[in-house]
Amino acid sequence: ENRLVTPEYAPQDSDVELSLRPKTLDEYIGQEKVKENMNIFIQAAKGRGEALDHVLLYGPPGLGKTTLSNIIANEMNVNIRVTSGPAIEKPGDLAALLTNLNQNDILFIDEIHRLSRAVEEVLYPAMEDYALDIIIGKGPSARSIRIDLPHFTLIGATTRAGQLTSPLRDRFGMLQRLELYTVEELSTIVKRSAGILEIPCDEKGAYELARRSRGTPRIANRLLKRVRDFAQVMGDGVITEDIAAIALNRMEIDALGLDSIDRRMLTAIIRNFGGGPVGVDTLAASVGEEAITLEDVYEPYLMQLGFLSRTPRGRCATRLAYEHLGLSVPKDASL
Ligand code: ADP
Repeated sequence: ENRLVTPEYAPQDSDVELSLRPKTLDEYIGQEKVKENMNIFIQAAKGRGEALDHVLLYGPPGLGKTTLSNIIANEMNVNIRVTSGPAIEKPGDLAALLTNLNQNDILFIDEIHRLSRAVEEVLYPAMEDYALDIIIGKGPSARSIRIDLPHFTLIGATTRAGQLTSPLRDRFGMLQRLELYTVEELSTIVKRSAGILEIPCDEKGAYELARRSRGTPRIANRLLKRVRDFAQVMGDGVITEDIAAIALNRMEIDALGLDSIDRRMLTAIIRNFGGGPVGVDTLAASVGEEAITLEDVYEPYLMQLGFLSRTPRGRCATRLAYEHLGLSVPKDASL
C-alpha cells in the first residue's frame, strides 16, 4: 500500500535521509532521556578505552534508531557495520560479519527480532564471551573449536522489545526506548531539514507540518518534501501554514496527521463494534491489515492522541475519537 504517512522506510526517502541525518548527539533533537543515558555510557566506555556495552533500541519505526546508532559510532570514534535480521540468512553470514570487525567497532542489526534461531545462537557466545564456536568435521570425528572475536558492540533495533527471545534480550546491557516526538520537537526537526534542503518555510508552516507528522521524524521529512512542491506551484515557494494545510488536506492527511487507514480503523471500532472493546485480530481483519502492523505502526500514535485505549478485553475508541471523526457519542456510552 502506498501510504504517505507510513513511518517505515520507503525508497522515496533515500536521497534526503542521508543528508538530513544528524551526525552528533547535540544535533539529535528530542529523546532527552535516551541521549543523556547514552552520553554517560559513551563517556565512560571511552574513558576506559573499552567497547560500549551492547545496546537494544526499541520503539516504532522512523524515530531515529539507525540515526542514533550512527551517532554513537561517531561519538565513540569507531566503525559501524549496518545490517538487518532478515539479511543475515545463515550462521556463516553472521560469522563473516563478526570476524571482520575491529576492536570496539559497532555491529548494527536492524529488525533484530527477525533473526533465525540458528543465527541467534551464534550471537549468544559472541555477545557474552566475544567468541565464535565452530564445528569442524562431521559425524563422530566432529569437534568444536572456539575463535576469539574482537571486543565489539552490538546495537540491535526492534519495534518492540517483547518480540525478542529472552536469552537474546538478556544479553543486552542497555535497553533504551525511543518515544514519539512532540510537535515542538518535530517542528525543530522540520526547520532544520528545511534549512539543509534550502526550502523556505516559516515558523507556522513548520508547526503545521509537525502537527501532522504522527510524532515521527521520517514522516516529517517526507511531508516537507511533498509540501515544497505545492508551495512552489501554488504560492511563492514559501511553506506557510495555509500552504501546508492545503497540501496535506489534498493528500488526505488530516489536521492531526491521521490518514484514511487510521480513520477507517477508528470508524470500524465505532460502527462495527459499538466503540469497542474489540480484539486486535478481529480489528485487523476488518481493516485488512496485519495485527502486528496495527500494534506497532498505527496504535502508538492513536494512543498518544488519546483516541484509542487498550483494555484487557480489546481496543476501545475514546470520546475524543468520536469527536474528531464528527460522530455523535451514543447516550448509553460510558466514555
Ligand atoms: P529508524 O531507524 O528508527 O526507523 P531512522 O534513524 O532511519 O529511523 O530515522 C529516519 C529519519 O528521521 C532520518 O533520516 C533522520 O533524518 C530523521 N531523524 C530521526 N531522528 C531524528 C532526530 N532526533 N533529530 C533529527 N532528525 C531525526
